[in-house]
Amino acid sequence: MSAEAHPSVETHPGEARTNLVVMKFGGTSVEDAKAMLRTAAIVRGRRERGLSPVVVVSAMAKVTDQLLAAASAAGRGDKIGALAIAARLRNRHLETAAELLCGDLFSSIEKIIRHEFDALDDLLRGIAAVGELTPRTSDNVVSFGERISSQMVAAGFTQNGLNGVQVDARTCIVTDDHYGKAVPQEAAIEARLTQHVLPLINAGHTPVMGGFIGATEQGITTTLGRGGSDFTAALVGGGLNAGAIEIWTDVNGIMTTDPRICPDALRVKTISFEEAAELAYFGAKVLHPATILPAVQKSIPVWVLNSRNAANEGTKITAVAPPCASPFKSIAAKKRLTIIDVVASRMLMTHGYLKSVFDVFDRYHCAIDMVSTSEVSISLTVDSNERLPEICAELEKIADVKLEGHKALICMVGEDIRGQSGISGRLFSAIRHVNVRMISQGASEINMSFMIEESDVEEAVRSLHAEFFVDPDPTVFDTEARSLATRT
Ligand code: ASP
Ligand code: MG
Repeated sequence: MSAEAHPSVETHPGEARTNLVVMKFGGTSVEDAKAMLRTAAIVRGRRERGLSPVVVVSAMAKVTDQLLAAASAAGRGDKIGALAIAARLRNRHLETAAELLCGDLFSSIEKIIRHEFDALDDLLRGIAAVGELTPRTSDNVVSFGERISSQMVAAGFTQNGLNGVQVDARTCIVTDDHYGKAVPQEAAIEARLTQHVLPLINAGHTPVMGGFIGATEQGITTTLGRGGSDFTAALVGGGLNAGAIEIWTDVNGIMTTDPRICPDALRVKTISFEEAAELAYFGAKVLHPATILPAVQKSIPVWVLNSRNAANEGTKITAVAPPCASPFKSIAAKKRLTIIDVVASRMLMTHGYLKSVFDVFDRYHCAIDMVSTSEVSISLTVDSNERLPEICAELEKIADVKLEGHKALICMVGEDIRGQSGISGRLFSAIRHVNVRMISQGASEINMSFMIEESDVEEAVRSLHAEFFVDPDPTVFDTEARSLATRT
């Protein structure tokens, strides 16, 4: 890794603790003993550079899903089914701990794992007896994943000379009581982190905290919503005024497009929060940028890094995009969309008409991806056909409705398209052989999106990539990797 890519050299307004780095490891980065050891090696690398890591971990891969399955089995009164899932989870954790740890460290973690799973069994029995699962109890069940993974990872760190210490996230991540998607209380979190975590760092420990979970002021367990560990990392980074936040996952960062479609796709070295937000929605499943808002608000850079390829420099997400000679940063494609044309049956778009159309989608919790309107018609796209029969039946009361399936959305993102003329001319002439069905330029002025046939996606993406990334700005894109990437 080159010196300038080193996260610790960042300077920030305010009193940033530039040496403090929050490192978040997702489920696949702690999925088994081998992954936990890889994680320990990555954290050691940061400590050897003189950084002080605070680590946030997810539950081991798939554990959250299985805990939810156990909770809902118990909620249906299926005690045997719920306890069977818990027993499998208990074994997986015990086996992983046995592989990861030895001696006293293993005995103490084994005891903790058994104790936690006993508590989980009791809880599941209680839910099954009542035959009802409340959101509050569900949060309690699902919290066991991160409670236990953080214990194991902390012990693994200690065994590997990193002085690990588990911090129960529920003592620091204070939330309201919206179970299932609790809202963090940032001032309280900052105070708790300062009280519980800072002294550990100063004493040379590596604190390890489970992501995703928190507690109310009264100490009742809550969760921040699925995928919430990134959010925890941002809250911890924000609360401690960290110098950087690292999201360790299993991809090399954000790419100029899907490398499976375009083998010469490049890693984007740096991208703005707004650009990342647009991409996350349209397919790049790296992280949900809303979850890193607490970091962005404090101008703390967030890095997306690959725990299976630690030498890779990843993608840096910053509040303000650096100047870039190329108009676009990335091209995302989203397939399996349906276009719905809604044509007013009477020749007028009366006041309230749009609202009544959107209300139908709202009632069925159906998210709309793109909208374009004319005098008498509205075209909308949706990514789920699940409730379409009911939605169409309702719309037909006020309009003529036509459906077209197998469509795809192409979304081109870049802050530098703002105010540039001629970009759309270049764009559409690059794909002049492709039939474009709907076009929209977002109000944010950082994306241009259009709908095409699903079968045209590969050709369109390749043509656009060739047009806009033929001579990429090396300060923003990893051009060195191009020769390597084309070989794979
Ligand atoms: N374990 C939680 C989930 O699977 C949180 C996370 O991993 O971010 O949703
Ligand atoms: Mg995740």
